[in-house]
Amino acid sequence: MGEFAEKDKAVVLLFFLSFLSFVSQGGEEIRLLPKLDYRHSELQLLRQEITQNLQSFRREKKIKLRWWRYRLGKKDHFFQVMAKTMQNHDTLSSVNRLASLYDLQEGDEWLIPNMRGLALYGNRQELAQRYGLSPELIFPVPGKKDLYFVPGAFFDKTHKPYFQLATFLRPVAGVVSSPFGYRRDPFDARQRFHKGIDLSCQLGSPVVASESGEVIFAGWKSGYGLTVILRHAFDYETLYAHLKETKVRKGEKVRKGETIALCGSSGRSSGPHLHFEVRRRGAHQRPQLHL
Ligand SMILES: [Zn+2]
Repeated sequence: MGEFAEKDKAVVLLFFLSFLSFVSQGGEEIRLLPKLDYRHSELQLLRQEITQNLQSFRREKKIKLRWWRYRLGKKDHFFQVMAKTMQNHDTLSSVNRLASLYDLQEGDEWLIPNMRGLALYGNRQELAQRYGLSPELIFPVPGKKDLYFVPGAFFDKTHKPYFQLATFLRPVAGVVSSPFGYRRDPFDARQRFHKGIDLSCQLGSPVVASESGEVIFAGWKSGYGLTVILRHAFDYETLYAHLKETKVRKGEKVRKGETIALCGSSGRSSGPHLHFEVRRRGAHQRPQLHL
């Protein structure tokens, strides 16, 4: 019996020691941020540590990285969480792998580091080299395999307009006749999720590429009718449906604003309109269009 007890003690001690080193490495100790209230001590602590880390990174390229987790509430939106936590756009969106500013909903759990930077896929050595930092300054993002946090890094200039969905051009001149999100289906009156927006248009009027890219589909798609799908930078795709005629072929490269099809009413459609979708890595985005 005594022998077993000694062994158990040793095992417990070993666990305790490995737990200590685990915690002292800093990467996995995630603190809870219960609410975005300036009077709450956790939010104050997070903001304080961001200020300190920004300073020590600037002065001597050193930081003490810690993570918080925050569960999004009903009224939370991107810029409000960003402002309250003293974070920036690139940090929150890259750490949490958001496809756009609108890629959030109540109950989502976000990770928030006490430093600004970029979360990138890769390995420590390669990222350290690319950003001119020592490998100890490249931190694994908790719970995300091969994703590393690079303090002080930013999105390159072309990425941000995509992420904000600010790069996409309105593909037809018409107005939005049906918005993105839940709506009563015009055919069977059931509540369904509308994955894009409908833009009114005249039969045969030109449909232009919302952004430069490559045609990855041009043809008939069940429900959608005659359809064109374009692939753009950073894994974004746009889809144009219910067309009368397509003007491009699969594999073709198109420029932003180039005519790719004619507006129609093919497929499951009750009159001429363009059904337009923006998606990234399978997730449908709320299109934000510019005239
Ligand atoms: Zn539609």
